[in-house]
Amino acid sequence: MSPGDNFAFLLPIMMATFGIVFLLVARHGGRGAAAWGIGYLASGAAFATPYVLDALPVVAQALLADALFLLAFVAFAAALRARFGLPRRFRRDAVLALAAFAAIVYAVAMRGDLRAELMTSDVACVLLLVGPFVKGLARARRAVDWTVLAITGLVMADNLLRTTVFASAGSIDLDGFAASTYAFAMQASGAVFGLFFALAALAAVASDVIEGHRDAAESDPLSGLLNRRGFEIRSPPFTRKSTVAGTIVTCDIDHFKRVNDAFGHAAGDRVIAIMAAMLKRDLPAGALAARFGGEEFVLYLPNAGPGEAVVLAERARLAFSLLDVSAAGITAGLTASFGVAAVEPGDHSLHDALARADACLYAAKLAGRNRVVAAQRPEADAGLRASSCAA
Ligand code: GH3
Ligand code: MG
Ligand code: MG
Repeated sequence: MSPGDNFAFLLPIMMATFGIVFLLVARHGGRGAAAWGIGYLASGAAFATPYVLDALPVVAQALLADALFLLAFVAFAAALRARFGLPRRFRRDAVLALAAFAAIVYAVAMRGDLRAELMTSDVACVLLLVGPFVKGLARARRAVDWTVLAITGLVMADNLLRTTVFASAGSIDLDGFAASTYAFAMQASGAVFGLFFALAALAAVASDVIEGHRDAAESDPLSGLLNRRGFEIRSPPFTRKSTVAGTIVTCDIDHFKRVNDAFGHAAGDRVIAIMAAMLKRDLPAGALAARFGGEEFVLYLPNAGPGEAVVLAERARLAFSLLDVSAAGITAGLTASFGVAAVEPGDHSLHDALARADACLYAAKLAGRNRVVAAQRPEADAGLRASSCAA
C-alpha cells in the first residue's frame, strides 16, 4: 500500500466521523448542524466508494461518487444558508445538482469523457456554494462566521483551480483515474479543506449551541427581557478608574394580584408580556431591561440623567394606563408605579442606585400608585411634575 492509499483510506473515515458529530450536535440545536452532518456523511461515502464498492464497474463507482458529492454540496449550501439566516433554496439547488448529474452521466456513460465529468462536478459544487457564500458576506457578524466563509471561499477556489489545471492536462481514462495526479490532488485538498471546513463549521455550530444556552440562562422566557442574572452580568463594573453614569428605573404593576385573581394567571402573564414589550419598544440604545420576578421590571439607562429617565418612565406609565387589554380578556384598567434614581458618585454597584429607585417605587405605591417618583428632583427644564423621594 502506498502512502497515497493510506491517505485516501483515512478520508472517508474522517468525513463520516464529522458527519456523525454534526448529527449529534444537531440534537442540541445549532443552525444548519443536521445539514452539515448529511453533507459530511455523503462526502465520506463518496470518498469511500472506490474501496467499499470495489467490485462494481468503474463507471458505476464514478457515477455513485459524483451523485454523493453533489448531495454533499447541496447539504453544505443548505447549512450555509441556515447559518446566515438566508431563505432556503433546496429545490433550486436540487435541480442544479440533478442537471449536473445528467451532464455527468452523459459525459461518463455515453462518451467516456472523464475530464468533462470532473469539470462538471467541480463547477456544479462551486455553483451550489457561491450564492450562500456571497450573501453570507453581508450577514457575517462574528469571527466564526468569517472563518466559515473564508474556508468556503477556499473550497470553491480549490475546486476551480483543480478544474482549470485539469482542463489543460492530457487525457485521463477512467481506469487510470485512481492513480492519477487529479485523484491525488482531490484527496489531498479534500482532506485539508474538508478538515478546515468541518472544524470551522463545528466551531460555529458549537458556539450557537453555547450561545443558545447562555441566552436561556440569562433571559426571562415570559417577557423576553433579561432575568436578574442576565442584568447583573451585563451591568457595568464599578472600578476605581471607571466612572459609571446613568439612571435606574424600577417598575411594578399596581394591584397585580387582583388581575390574577379576577382574570386568571394566564391573563396576568399576558399583561407581564405586554408591559415588557412596551418597555422594550421605548428603550434607548445600550439600555438594559430586565424582569426581576413577578411583575417587577428594572431598566438601566446608561446615557440618561434622571430627567430623561423620568420622561421615559412617565411615557411608559401613561401608555400602560391607556392600554386596551380587552383582547387579553381583561376588562379592568391597569396602572403601574415607577421609581427613578441616578447612579451617584460613591456608589459601589448598580445595586445602590437600584435600592434608591426601589425606595422611590415604594413611595409611589404609598402615595397612591400610578405615578413616577424620582430620587432627586429632575432638572427644572424637563418640565415634569414627578414627585421626589428621600432615597
Ligand atoms: P402592588 O400594587 O402593591 O404592587 O400590589 P400587587 O398585587 O401588584 O403586589 P404583590 O407583590 O402583592 O402581588 C404580586 C403578584 O404577582 C402575586 C403573584 O401571584 C403574582 N405573580 C408573580 N409572578 C407571576 C407570574 O409570573 N405570572 C403571573 N400571572 N402572576 C405572577
Ligand atoms: Mg405590584
Ligand atoms: Mg410586586
